[in-house]
Amino acid sequence: MDIAPTPAPVPLVHDIPFWESVEQQDLKLQRCADCGQFRYPAGPICAQCNSEQVTWELVSGKGTILSWVVFHKTYLPAYPAPHTVIAVRLDEGPIIISNLEGPEPEGSWIDERVSLRYATMPDGVVLPRFELDRTAS
Ligand SMILES: [Zn+2]
Repeated sequence: MDIAPTPAPVPLVHDIPFWESVEQQDLKLQRCADCGQFRYPAGPICAQCNSEQVTWELVSGKGTILSWVVFHKTYLPAYPAPHTVIAVRLDEGPIIISNLEGPEPEGSWIDERVSLRYATMPDGVVLPRFELDRTAS
């Protein structure tokens, strides 16, 4: 049986530590070394204070769904329908676009708490994804 290839990330110079942390299943985001602002996607300069000083720090992997969509058509073989896409505001602030795995909320998904998990695709690519956070109150 053929394995559908996962569309490969195309890391630019500022994204490389992000994708390395995903591969290691320890998600890190770029953080301004001067004002502390987390940012995603990574970039060369802080939008908050214009500092070029950065660190890479582990994030909690916890967040809240801001928006969601379920595609009922397969656009890429690696993502068969129905295929979910969610926008998550991480507790550290940045918004990350990903997928919801496992049980889906009834009704609106907005404001549902989610936690990070790592999915290994059939071709071995590791992706950051989310599942409903059952520990949330
Ligand atoms: Zn800053």
